[in-house]
Amino acid sequence: MTTITIAKGDGIGPEIMDATLEILKASGAQLEVEEIKIGEKVYLSGNTSGIAPESWEVIRKNKVFLKAPITTPQGGGYKSLNVTTRKFLGLYSNVRPCMSLHPFVSTKHPVMDMVIVRENEEDLYAGIEHQQTDEVVQCLKLISRPGCEKIIRYAFEYAKQQNRKKVTCFSKDNIMKQTDGLFHQVFNEIAAEYPSIQHEHWIVDIGAAKVADTPEDFDVIVMPNLYGDIISDIAAQITGSVGLAGSANIGEECAMFEAIHGTAPDIGGKNIANPSGLLQGAIMMLNHIGQTSVAEKIQNAWLKTIEDGIHTSDIYKEDVSTQKVGTKEFAQAVIERLGQEPTQLTPVHFSNSEALNLPKYKRKPSAKKELVGVDVFVHWSGSNPNELADIIQKIEPQGIQLSMITNRGIKVWPDGFKETFCTDHWRCRFKPMNDSSISKSSIISILEKANNSHVDVIKTENLYTFDGKAGYSLGQGQ
Ligand code: NAD
Repeated sequence: MTTITIAKGDGIGPEIMDATLEILKASGAQLEVEEIKIGEKVYLSGNTSGIAPESWEVIRKNKVFLKAPITTPQGGGYKSLNVTTRKFLGLYSNVRPCMSLHPFVSTKHPVMDMVIVRENEEDLYAGIEHQQTDEVVQCLKLISRPGCEKIIRYAFEYAKQQNRKKVTCFSKDNIMKQTDGLFHQVFNEIAAEYPSIQHEHWIVDIGAAKVADTPEDFDVIVMPNLYGDIISDIAAQITGSVGLAGSANIGEECAMFEAIHGTAPDIGGKNIANPSGLLQGAIMMLNHIGQTSVAEKIQNAWLKTIEDGIHTSDIYKEDVSTQKVGTKEFAQAVIERLGQEPTQLTPVHFSNSEALNLPKYKRKPSAKKELVGVDVFVHWSGSNPNELADIIQKIEPQGIQLSMITNRGIKVWPDGFKETFCTDHWRCRFKPMNDSSISKSSIISILEKANNSHVDVIKTENLYTFDGKAGYSLGQGQ
């Protein structure tokens, strides 16, 4: 028996949750349910996070959370509870199965059954942004080894549990050699531990084009946060049935399951909402906690219901549907079909009945780290890089020289092109004259001299090697 936390949420939330719980109960799922209140009423009672501290305790105690959609009131400093939950509970993995239900739900892609596994905490979503000059703002893209290992291992373990054949990685490591390069490298390392599962890598641009064109070629796809955010919406949309999709947010300790749609306030309280999205979330929850035979039973009964043409009004079509039903009646139809399998849609068989068991991240021994230079970023409103080089060369400390200036990453000194457009944000790279390491005090000396010469330094980035391998990129054109 597993105790789960549930929250009925707002709008259509209570009806779709009740329908889902009815199906779970009838299926024989071994669940105890503890309910908490979250969402609009909690926000409007003066709690800007939309959840009371004691409810957090319930979520943390039970570790498994089935959540209906909630309304975040506009303005007034109300924080999105979905984002807070993900970050607070370390839910690093967002899993979205995207499956066509052809011919019962119309789609251009009748053969499509893919699962997007999106990293949920890192990448450009760390939210570290700065403006440093009049013309330039930046956002820090953070990719960590633990972040990569956890998400990629999750993708392979999920594929194993679900009898899936292939895991594909999307990255842009031809351009972002450090960040996406690490993601791709860790993918190759972990793939080698799962020889029975095929693996492949696509550069994200052509990969996304293939998802939109030939989704039948994909099985499980794992990717960093931003690409996953965009591509999982594309994938859900092209199944033709965004309203039928569920999603899981998985962490080392806790997990949260939900529908991908919102509270549908236009149809709340009318018994017409489709409960399938939340039911799909609940099925993922059962798989997550190892109740895979019940998950299989519900999924097959749900597919049979759709196949029998018993449809809620959002997917009702006269030529394929046989009966238009409400939320409760749809749930009853699924319950009546428990134990049956679809004959036209492909039934699911989850043979492995174990909960996903993911090892904790183990930190690797530290590499030999050497400081071999520094990038000094300056705000300078001139336009000729040769003039800037003259100014910067005056602040070189002994044994260290200016080796390059870039503007928005493109090398503009030495030997720049006069055609290259320059902003007021310049990177000046300092390296030792002989290929040795430098000390932190020489960086301080550069900064001191810059300050004395009224050079507006906005930040520095240290250049390191790790076991002799450069931990920084070259300038474009260098
Ligand atoms: P929405 O997904 O609620 O609705 C979009 C359209 O799809 C509406 O016409 C709605 O009637 C329909 N629809 C959605 N789910 C349906 C279902 N199960 N059955 C039948 N029709 C369905 O998106 P929205 O209108 O942009 O957002 C409404 C509210 O939901 C907002 O307050 C938003 O903040 C919230 N929201 C919450 C979550 C969440 O809690 N996870 C996610 C998205 C949006």
